[in-house]
Amino acid sequence: MVVQVLEHLYLGSFDDVMKHIELSENHVHVQAVLTVDLKPLNCEVSAQFCYKHIPILDMENENLLVHLDDAVSFMDNHRLDNKDVIVHCTAGQSRSAAVVIAYLMWKLQMDYKDSFEYLKKLKPDIRPNRGFEEQLTMYEHMGWRLDKTNKAYRQFELERIGAMVTSGREITELGEFLNGVEDVRSPSNSLTYKCKKCRQTLFSEANVIYHMAGIGNEAFSKPWQKMTANTGSDCKSGLFIEPMKWMAGLGEITGKIGCMKCSAKVGSWSWSGERCCCGTWVTPAFHIDNKKVDKSVPVRLPS
Ligand SMILES: [Zn+2]
Ligand SMILES: [Zn+2]
Repeated sequence: MVVQVLEHLYLGSFDDVMKHIELSENHVHVQAVLTVDLKPLNCEVSAQFCYKHIPILDMENENLLVHLDDAVSFMDNHRLDNKDVIVHCTAGQSRSAAVVIAYLMWKLQMDYKDSFEYLKKLKPDIRPNRGFEEQLTMYEHMGWRLDKTNKAYRQFELERIGAMVTSGREITELGEFLNGVEDVRSPSNSLTYKCKKCRQTLFSEANVIYHMAGIGNEAFSKPWQKMTANTGSDCKSGLFIEPMKWMAGLGEITGKIGCMKCSAKVGSWSWSGERCCCGTWVTPAFHIDNKKVDKSVPVRLPS
């Protein structure tokens, strides 16, 4: 059985949806279908409706957020036209439920928890995977739309790309990520970091990624535990930044970061992560050696 979520909005599994389509007299009750699954519906079936396909797997590191703006407007446009929309995936529990929760959040300006509870009452078997839960919480913090410049979103993208690099998967998203990184050569009045050897500006404060300071030596006594307790304040010792266009060979799991001008080694990276000297495990890690760069405070001319 497909479940009615709101007026003109339904959620179900693939089987539910197929049954529902067959039962509907002349398909009058199904006017739009949103498939959130790797495979689209058979063309002969999908041709009968307004159809949209979001090709994703039910995996924690799938990027659901990039599809939400489109999915939400698809659902809303049809509902406003008084047309019934059915959203489905394979089981109707994780992917499609996550998309419907996003719609509830956006439409009713609710937080993730309330939207989840609302839907769970109607369909008790929903269970969006943990990665989707995290992304929906991020969606809420971004104001119910995708903001690709949002720090938390960029960190999520980095971790996702890192997981793809380390598992040997093709990383088509890296180029887009690097395009979004603030270019240090564009005029900026923030603190910048220069190569100690040749004075070339390499990155700015905007590219620095902060982490909570770990608990020091104790973290090193259990090196197999990547998750360690933290002290609750920003780490002041390790310097980590976003990957940037001028770094060569980023498709490799690990590598040396050389200055873009004189090639002097200024740090190293590891997509699978590295433990900072404070004890916190940082993933992925683009680690700059403090001794190889100089901080440069912007000069403010008197006005
Ligand atoms: Zn240099
Ligand atoms: Zn640290």
